[in-house]
Amino acid sequence: MPSRTASSRKPPKKGGPASTKRVRIFDTTLRDGEQSPGCSMDRFQKVQMALQLEKLGVDIIEAGFPIASNDEFESVRDVAKAVTKPIVAGLSRSSRGDIDRCWEAVRHARRPRIHTFIATSDIHLKYKLRMTRQELLKEVAQSVRHARKLCANVEWSAEDATRSDWDFLVEAVKIAIGEGATTINLPDTVGYIVPSEFRRFWEHIFEKVPVYEGVVFSAHCHNDLGLAVANSIVAVESGVRQVECTINGIGERAGNASLEEFVMALHTRKDILGFQTGVHTREIYPSSRLLTSMTGVPVQPNKAVVGKNAFAHEAGIHQHGVISKAITYEIMTPKSVGRPSNTLVLGKHSGRAGLRKRYEQLGFKMSREEVSAIYPRFIDLADKKKEVYDEDLVALLQEERAGVGDSYYQLEFLQVTTSTATQPAATASARLREGNEVRSDVGHGNGPVDAAIDAISRIIGIKCRLTDFSVNSVTRGRDALAEVNLMVEFEGGLTIAGRSASPDTVEAGAKAFVSAVNKFKLTQSLKKAAPGAQGKNVKEAARPRGI
Ligand SMILES: [Zn+2]
Repeated sequence: MPSRTASSRKPPKKGGPASTKRVRIFDTTLRDGEQSPGCSMDRFQKVQMALQLEKLGVDIIEAGFPIASNDEFESVRDVAKAVTKPIVAGLSRSSRGDIDRCWEAVRHARRPRIHTFIATSDIHLKYKLRMTRQELLKEVAQSVRHARKLCANVEWSAEDATRSDWDFLVEAVKIAIGEGATTINLPDTVGYIVPSEFRRFWEHIFEKVPVYEGVVFSAHCHNDLGLAVANSIVAVESGVRQVECTINGIGERAGNASLEEFVMALHTRKDILGFQTGVHTREIYPSSRLLTSMTGVPVQPNKAVVGKNAFAHEAGIHQHGVISKAITYEIMTPKSVGRPSNTLVLGKHSGRAGLRKRYEQLGFKMSREEVSAIYPRFIDLADKKKEVYDEDLVALLQEERAGVGDSYYQLEFLQVTTSTATQPAATASARLREGNEVRSDVGHGNGPVDAAIDAISRIIGIKCRLTDFSVNSVTRGRDALAEVNLMVEFEGGLTIAGRSASPDTVEAGAKAFVSAVNKFKLTQSLKKAAPGAQGKNVKEAARPRGI
C-alpha cells in the first residue's frame, strides 16, 4: 500500500470515523442539482444561492463541473471567491486536464477541494470507459496523486459504486486512500440500492478497508426508487460521516437525497439516531424558496418539510380556532424550518419602515435600497389583495432577489378578452418595454394565457415553445397570489424555466413567460461575453456527466 496516509488505527466496530456523531453536509445543488432539466442557473444566481447555502450552514458546496463549459468554470470560480466558511468543491473526471481545470476554478476558495471521480462498475468499465479493471486501478492512483499535488483536500468518488463488485471496489478505495484522498464517496448513482442492502454494503467496506485518521466516508444517493434519504440515513448509521444532497432534492432524473428531509430526519429523531449537522434549520425554507424562484421549478405540494401542504394541519387548526396541543399532529414546527406563519401582516398603509421590520422579523435582512425597490411592488400587491400574508412577502422578495424578472423586457400592459360561448377563443393585446423602447402586439389562443403568450412572442420575435405550465396558490382565499411556473423551449433546444406570482393568474402566466425570455436573453449575452477565451471550449452538447 502506498504511503502518505496517516497512521492507521483499528476500525471501530461499525467502521468509519464513528467517534464523532457530526455528519458533514455536502450540498451539490449547484452541480448535480443544476444538471437536471430546467434547473439551470446563471452565474449571478449561483453565487446568490451559494451565499444562502453558507447561511444555511452546509459544510461543503459543490459549485459545479469546471470542465463542462466556460460558463460553468467561471461560476465555480465566482462561488469560490464569494463564500468563506464552507469548503468549495469542483467536480472533475480522472484525466489530468479535467483535474487541472477544476483546480484553476476552486483554488480561489479559502478552503478548496478537488472532487475527482471514475466509474468502478463492470457495466461502466465495459460500455463507457472501455477499460480493464487493472487499467482502472492505475487511473485511480494517477488521478488522486495528481489532485493531491495541487490540493490538500481531495475527494474521490466511485461512480456507480453500489453496482460495482464490492471486493473490487474495496481495492479501488484502498488505492485512493493510499494516494491521499481525504474523502471517499461511494455513490448510488442510479438509485438502485435498497436500505438493507446498503447497510451490508457499508459493513463490507468498513470491514475490508482499514480506517485512517482524517479520511471521511461519504454517501451520494439518487432517488429513482424514492429511497435516497432512507439510504443516506442507513449510511450514517453504518459509519459514513458525509452525505451529499440537494435543496428540494433536485438532481439527475428523480433527483438526489433532499437536504431538508435528511437534515430534519436527523434533527427530529435525534433520540434514535443521535447525529448532528451544522445546518441552521431555520434557513431551510428560505433556501428552498430561493431555489424555486431562481429555477422556476416548483416543489410538489406534498413534499416533506418544504411542500405547501407539509404543515397543512396548521391551517385546519387555525380555521377551527383550536389552539390545543400542536404535538397531536406535529412532529416538528414550521418555525423550526423557517416557514413564515400565515398571519395577516401588512396593508397598503404600512410604509417602508413597517415593511422592512416585518421582513426582519421573518429573518430577511434588507438594505434600504432593496426595501425601496420592493416597496412599489408591495403597494401594488396590497392594492390588488386586501390581506398581505407573510408567505406573500417571501414570494415577493424571492422574485426580487431572483434578479432577472425586470431585466430586458418588462410587461407594461396586458388586456385579454376570452369567451367560452362557442369554441374556446381568446384575444390578448400586450405592451412590452425594453429600455426606452416600447412595443405592442395582439395575439390569439385557445385560452387567455395562451393568447397573452402569443402576443408577447410576436413582440419579442424569438422562436420558442411553451412545454410546461403549472399554477399554485401561495396563500388561501379567492384573492390568493397565483404562482405560475412554466418551461419554455427556445431555439437550439435550450429549455428555461420561468416563474412569477400575481393575484391574477393570466398576468402571472404572462410575467412568468417574460421572465423565461429574459433568462434566455441573459444566457445569450453571457455566451457572447465569454467567447471561449478562457482555455478549453467544450460544446454544451458534449457536456460530461457527473456521478
Ligand atoms: Zn449524482
